[in-house]
Amino acid sequence: MPGVVPPPGERLAIAERVAELRATATAGHCRPLPWRRAQLQALVRMLGDNEAAFAEALRADLGKPTTEGYLADVAFVLDEVRAMIRNLRRWNRATRVRSPLILQPSSSRLVPEPLGMVLVIAPWNYPVQLLLVPAAGAIAAGNTVMLKPSEVAAATSALLARLVPQYLDPTAVGIIEGGAAQTTVLLEQRWDHIFFTGNASVGRVVMAAAAKNLTPVTLELGGKSPVIVDASANVAVAARRIAWGKWLNAGQTCVAPDYVLVHRRVLDGFIEELRRAIATFYGPDPMRSTSYGRIVNERHLERLVGLIPDGTVVVGGEAVAEQLYLAPTVLRDVGLDSALMAEEIFGPLLALITVDSLDEAVAIVNAKPRPLALYVFAQDRSVQRDVIARTSAGGVTVNGTILHLLNPRLPFGGVGESGMGAYHGEAGVRLFQHHKSVLTRTSRPDFAIAYPPYTRLKSRLLRWLL
Ligand code: NAD
Repeated sequence: MPGVVPPPGERLAIAERVAELRATATAGHCRPLPWRRAQLQALVRMLGDNEAAFAEALRADLGKPTTEGYLADVAFVLDEVRAMIRNLRRWNRATRVRSPLILQPSSSRLVPEPLGMVLVIAPWNYPVQLLLVPAAGAIAAGNTVMLKPSEVAAATSALLARLVPQYLDPTAVGIIEGGAAQTTVLLEQRWDHIFFTGNASVGRVVMAAAAKNLTPVTLELGGKSPVIVDASANVAVAARRIAWGKWLNAGQTCVAPDYVLVHRRVLDGFIEELRRAIATFYGPDPMRSTSYGRIVNERHLERLVGLIPDGTVVVGGEAVAEQLYLAPTVLRDVGLDSALMAEEIFGPLLALITVDSLDEAVAIVNAKPRPLALYVFAQDRSVQRDVIARTSAGGVTVNGTILHLLNPRLPFGGVGESGMGAYHGEAGVRLFQHHKSVLTRTSRPDFAIAYPPYTRLKSRLLRWLL
């Protein structure tokens, strides 16, 4: 790609760094569980010792409120890593499986082994969580790992680049800062797994590069996550829960509610409740609220402001460029073929579309690429079941938003355009293992039944045994 080539010296330095990690992986340095445990513990210490510095970097990059930054970035990683430490032995243990009669006497096991060397490429919106959770999973599974934070969250990227080599074993964990140019060089190297979080167009670049070396990929992508507000919904609760999920991180969340398909019968009440929720959460002027974030940069702010005329503003709409501020905004009368409905919004604009039936809502969802998340608000259980059965999405929260990804027992990932593969909890460690099938026999007895020559008797016996 023109313009994305780094100078030869930098290219060489990246390749050399990758070669170091490869040598460490080949030497089996990361395989012993005590080494893995020590690295995970060091990660916990890194976050604990530098909590204030992370809060500051997240505020500089995204105007993240301290509580939001702590919960969504730092505490989330701590929870995941502590679970990995607690379960390290269990999640790396071989599992026995039964062997069929014809193979007796023998034993069969699935033996997890590290894949080798993992590349983690992260986006800017949760720049700590989305880099360190997959990285910890790769370490817990015994791999070396190279981290590529997003250049767009520059302060967090710089902080991580300073801290990671201080706390983690540099022969096994590397970090390369930069954008498309540096990522392109990283993608030219041979990896054993690439874990990418970002948008689908870069996802395609990653997958094409991985194909050259037959490297497996996990793609955590985005998309337009719909909300269905049924006529049976508790409208006040729905509005509050949608408002929380939508305006967290100023709408820059991969699973943020993107558009709401609201039943005509409850539309007016729903808008009033949204207005009330916004006022309660962020006060009369959200720009002054310490609980409301900022848009990551001018380019994104301009893009978002350009989408506003696609609907009728019923709440918000104000933007202040010098502050990278865009108010929590609700738009009604949004056309299905408008630009607002074409791409993931990824900002604080909530598009409302009025529907007259559940069938109509389901048809709209199913006409679009399969989303990362889907939300349904309904007190009628048959409606909840119906929506789950008739739509497809990476994950679903019923009568809530975002929460399904907070349960580590529910693997988190997309489907179709919203990605492939899933992580969190045990799934986030298993992802970076190969589950080697091992069958063990003893030398005796050595039945001759399966060996040639195939007599009639042997053949009959074999058919019976199979
Ligand atoms: P992005 O795809 O622009 O960038 C992600 C990473 O790819 C960055 O590290 C960047 O440096 C690198 N990159 C960018 N262009 C590249 C290129 N041409 N070649 C190689 N590497 C390149 O994504 P973003 O804007 O940082 O994040 C927003 C997107 O990520 C949204 O679509 C959002 O929904 C999605 N997302 C998904 C999840 C999830 O868990 N599924 C989480 C957060 C964000």
